[in-house]
Amino acid sequence: MIIAIASGKGGTGKTTLSVSLALAIPDAQLVDADAEEPNAHLFLDPEIAETIPVNMMIPEVDARRCTACGKCAEFCRFNALAVVKDKVLVFPEICHGCGGCAYVCPEGAITAGSRRIGEVEVGTAKGRRFVQGRLHPSQPTAVRIVQAELERVEKDGVTIVDAPPGTACAVQEVISEADFCVLVTEPTPFGLHDLGMALDLCEELEAPHGVVINRSGPRDGLIEDECRRRGTPVLLKIPFDRKIAEAYSRGRPLVEAFPEWGGRLLKMVETVRERARR
Ligand code: SF4
Ligand code: SF4
Repeated sequence: MIIAIASGKGGTGKTTLSVSLALAIPDAQLVDADAEEPNAHLFLDPEIAETIPVNMMIPEVDARRCTACGKCAEFCRFNALAVVKDKVLVFPEICHGCGGCAYVCPEGAITAGSRRIGEVEVGTAKGRRFVQGRLHPSQPTAVRIVQAELERVEKDGVTIVDAPPGTACAVQEVISEADFCVLVTEPTPFGLHDLGMALDLCEELEAPHGVVINRSGPRDGLIEDECRRRGTPVLLKIPFDRKIAEAYSRGRPLVEAFPEWGGRLLKMVETVRERARR
């Protein structure tokens, strides 16, 4: 079973929950798919055994075959191609590697080159399999990195995937592969706004999902009302507590600093199992 831990925005406590769930569930694997800014390793101090380079397709144009018809540039929604003076210019830094330009070229003038955009690291952390992706700076998308990470998930047991924040393509990739998506939020107007987008995404992808309210307190009603309106379960609340924040700032996972949270997280996993896709 793959459980994605996602959020409409960064800073909601997504990684804290991911790490603690992975430690609470016996034999769980943790995949840190927040490839632009992986930080689960700060809590887990993993030993990396293997580093796998990740490449992305970038178009190479054969000038002898190209008739400068412009179909490739017309197709590319990222404007990574332009036809100037009968010559196709490629802007690799904004190419998303979809391969569509090669597909639409009537002359077969475009072939797939490749460039390295990052890597996937595989190892162990606190007795658990650990996978993390790293996207190199200035690359336009982490989708290929996330795909490469998910290809390395071992099928047995439970896999916790710390998804990137937001609702962009890389998050969609994670949620599409998950059996259940846990959305972490906080009871503030910003939290509610971004949770709304994440809930829309889960509904669009028909992914079973539920909500965890982090820094829970008197304003929980903001989130609870929205969840009630959509029929989304609130799976767990983590209180706004100075001691929890202090443990976090020292890099101590919730379940290590407060072992009583292990049982609460496992109870949540039981609910997730009952509602999961498979
Ligand atoms: S679609 Fe093919 S032939 Fe047309 S401009 Fe692009 S590379 Fe050249
Ligand atoms: S591979 Fe996709 S994103 Fe890159 S230039 Fe071609 S159409 Fe555009």
